[in-house]
Amino acid sequence: MNVASILKLKGRQVATAQPDATLLEIVTKLNQRRIGAMVIVGENGHVDGIVSERDIIRAIAKSGASALQQTVSEVMTQNVVSCSEKSAIDELMELMTEGRFRHLPVMEDGSLVGIISIGDVVKNHVAEVEMEVSSLRSYLATG
Ligand code: AMP
Repeated sequence: MNVASILKLKGRQVATAQPDATLLEIVTKLNQRRIGAMVIVGENGHVDGIVSERDIIRAIAKSGASALQQTVSEVMTQNVVSCSEKSAIDELMELMTEGRFRHLPVMEDGSLVGIISIGDVVKNHVAEVEMEVSSLRSYLATG
């Protein structure tokens, strides 16, 4: 299994916002879409950063409620780690564990084509383990 097969199941929609969006706008969108992170894309379509609920909590802890008026470009992570459609699921687990984050944008030829969350990775891993168990069970039953 690789990223392409996960995207086939979950789709390629990615929630994005522009760098000048306020944290209040970001929080509203995260809540409406029931997601934990958004990719920040500049006017030229270039991925400028990623913001997750953790960044927003950090900003509020530092500045209080007034943090919600800050622009997302002030709190987002600029060095975005991404994967490609060909990346294997094991690679994603390694990247997420090492980087201590739960979201990986999928890039192809410089374009954003999807996003994988830790939830997608776990779901896929459980499905793979269940398939292995069921084929081992039928092997034992017929052996
Ligand atoms: P998360 O676990 O995804 O909520 O993110 C935890 C922290 O890692 C936050 O500061 C995010 O901005 C940052 N982050 C999330 N995803 C990525 C990524 N793919 N590349 C770099 N940083 C990220």
